Amino acid sequence: MSAPAAGEVRLCVRCVLPSTFPGISFDARGLCSLCQDAPPAPEFEKIRGDLRRKLEAVFDANRGKAEYDVIVAFSGGKDSSYTLMALTRTYGLKCLAVTIDNGFIAEQAQKNLRAVTSSLGIDFLLFTPAPVFMHHLYKTSATTPVHTKAALTRASSICNSCINLINNHMVKLALEKSVPIIAGGYIGGQVPKDSVIMVMDLDVQARFRSEAIKRYLKHFGPDAEGYFGIGDTLVARSALRKINIVNPMLAFGVSEERIIEEISELGWRKTADTGSNSTNCLLNDLGIAVHYKQHRYNPYVNEIAEQVRTGLMSREDAIHKVQDIPDFARVERQARAIGLEWGDV
Ligand SMILES: [Zn+2]
Repeated sequence: MSAPAAGEVRLCVRCVLPSTFPGISFDARGLCSLCQDAPPAPEFEKIRGDLRRKLEAVFDANRGKAEYDVIVAFSGGKDSSYTLMALTRTYGLKCLAVTIDNGFIAEQAQKNLRAVTSSLGIDFLLFTPAPVFMHHLYKTSATTPVHTKAALTRASSICNSCINLINNHMVKLALEKSVPIIAGGYIGGQVPKDSVIMVMDLDVQARFRSEAIKRYLKHFGPDAEGYFGIGDTLVARSALRKINIVNPMLAFGVSEERIIEEISELGWRKTADTGSNSTNCLLNDLGIAVHYKQHRYNPYVNEIAEQVRTGLMSREDAIHKVQDIPDFARVERQARAIGLEWGDV
């Protein structure tokens, strides 16, 4: 299966958002609704400059307060590797790199985890959730509507479940170790706008989370409590009342080529088996294939379009990436690994 040709699905003339993308409309010039409101690409550098200054203020206010200044959710992929490198070297923060091993980290990505953290000389924690739970989580995510429509415009259902589990683990660790900042390696389009700096108020968060937890318990079973819940005891015991959640890549604004060039110096190497849109996860292509079958657009298109709109990717490269929709043959092995029947998708 390949994505429909541009003639069948209309693409925005500036970014590459397709007419199949939820809530999209086009003006007479062929600009999508997101591009109509967006400033020209060069203006984003000024916007990012302002965001970098705000980020620096958060770093300055929190440096040296705990055993670690920041916990970095580190997948071993290019973006979180770059984030880790920049926070350690450019901003002089004491980072703790934390990786969730979902059982599908490509072999080269596993080498990258070690290479990047040892080159940077930083501590590294690996947490491996029970594979039986992870397989159930992924299979359910592929066959049941677990996530909101808005969340699905930013990532596949499989990815969303994984991301939520990862984020929750980072919050628990931050509470345990009283680390005031958590950094993700998300880039524009993967997270909602204005996600460069978010302040999580733990008392408010506890109320909000109970709704999401109910949903996860219903879909993923009683073990979901441990993976998606923070626990009142942990919140009460921790000295932290607020956690700064930051996504520095949104402020850095670096192209994929430059990211790869810079992290290569740490011994990072590109994976050959993770598809066009991932540099660490063997399950990613399955997530894309499932999403495409259910929603008729590539779940990466929002972030790719955002990269084009903000001047970080050429439209030509974007079209190539977006149209690379894995067929079932390419993801059959992974589907089998999580017990997924293609007919159930
Ligand atoms: Zn557009």
